[in-house]
Amino acid sequence: MSGNYSIGVDLGGTNLRVAVMRQEGTLTETIALRTRLQEGRDTVVADMCEAVAALHLRQNGSGKCVGIGVGTPGPLELPAGILRRPPNLPGWDGFDVRRAIENRLNQPILLESDANVAALAELHFGAGKHFGVDSLCMLTLGTGVGNGIVLRGHVWQGANGMAGEAGHTTVVPDGLPCGCGSRGCLELYASATGLRRMALESIAAAAQPESALARLAHANVEFQARDVARLAEAGDAQAQAIFTEMGRCLGLTLAALINTLNLPLYVLGGGSAAAWSLFAPALYKEMHERAYVYRATEPTEAEKVARTPGKTHVAQAELGADSGILGAAYLPWVEVPAQGSSL
Ligand SMILES: [Zn+2]
Repeated sequence: MSGNYSIGVDLGGTNLRVAVMRQEGTLTETIALRTRLQEGRDTVVADMCEAVAALHLRQNGSGKCVGIGVGTPGPLELPAGILRRPPNLPGWDGFDVRRAIENRLNQPILLESDANVAALAELHFGAGKHFGVDSLCMLTLGTGVGNGIVLRGHVWQGANGMAGEAGHTTVVPDGLPCGCGSRGCLELYASATGLRRMALESIAAAAQPESALARLAHANVEFQARDVARLAEAGDAQAQAIFTEMGRCLGLTLAALINTLNLPLYVLGGGSAAAWSLFAPALYKEMHERAYVYRATEPTEAEKVARTPGKTHVAQAELGADSGILGAAYLPWVEVPAQGSSL
C-alpha cells in the first residue's frame, strides 16, 4: 500500500496495541502486546517504542509518516503529558509519559487520554460520521465511566487537558464515596463495576432473599453486570430496576451536558452500553424532564431512526474496542504536536 501513514498507540492497563493507519481511516497493520505493568513503566514504554519502530521499518519507505498518536488512560495533564493518579496504571502517578516516549522515539508525539481518542474516532469513523455531525460528546461505560468531547472536529482538552470528566459529575449528592474524592458520581451507577455493586446491594436489601438475582449471584463466583443484564432481558423485575436506576443517573448527567453544550450528538460506548434497551427508557424520560434544551430539540421516534439534523440525538457507539486505536492513529491527521512537546 502506498501513500502517507500515521502510527497509533492504544495503551491500556491490560493490552498495548500499535497500528499503522492510512488517511482514509484504515488500519493496515497492528502489533498487539500485553501491557507488562509488573515490569515497570520503562519496560512498557520500551515495548511501545520498539513496536512503533518495527512498524516504521515495515512501511519500507512507502509514503511519509505524518505523526504518531498515543492514547493513554487518564487523567492526563496536557500539554505537559503527565499522568495524574491514573487508576488503570498503578504506580504511574506523576509520570511524564510524553517525555519518556519522545526521548525514546526522538520525535514529538500527539498525546490524548483514551476517552478523548475514542470520542475522536466515533466522530470521524463511527456514529458521528453516520449522523453527519462535526461535534459530539461521548461517555464510555466500562470499568469506570470515561468521557470525551469533540468540538468542530477537534478534541476539547480544556485549559489543563482535563476536560471530559463527566463520569465524575454528582448524580446522588449523598451517595457512596468515589475514587476521585467526591461522592455519588455517575461512574458509581453507570459503569460495569457500579452495576454489579448495585445488584449485590439490591440482593442484600431485598425482603425476598431467594430471588432469581440472588440465586444467580450466589451460584456464580464471577457474577458480573452482563449477568444482571441477561436476567433483566428475560423479564426479571429486580434486575430491570438496576438498569432503570442506571438510565436515570445517565439521564441526569446527559441533561446537564445537553443544557450546557447543546451538541447535536451524545454517544454511549463501552461494554455496558450494550444494555441500551434496558436503560434507554429511563434515560430519555430523565432528559425530557430535566433538560429544557433537550425538550426544545427532542427528536420524534421517526426522527431518531432517520437521524434528522437539527435535533439532539443520543446513540450507541459503533466502533467497539477499536475506537481507542483508531482515534490515536487519527490524531496526527487532525492535530499538530503541542507546544509543550519535550523535544
Ligand atoms: Zn468520582
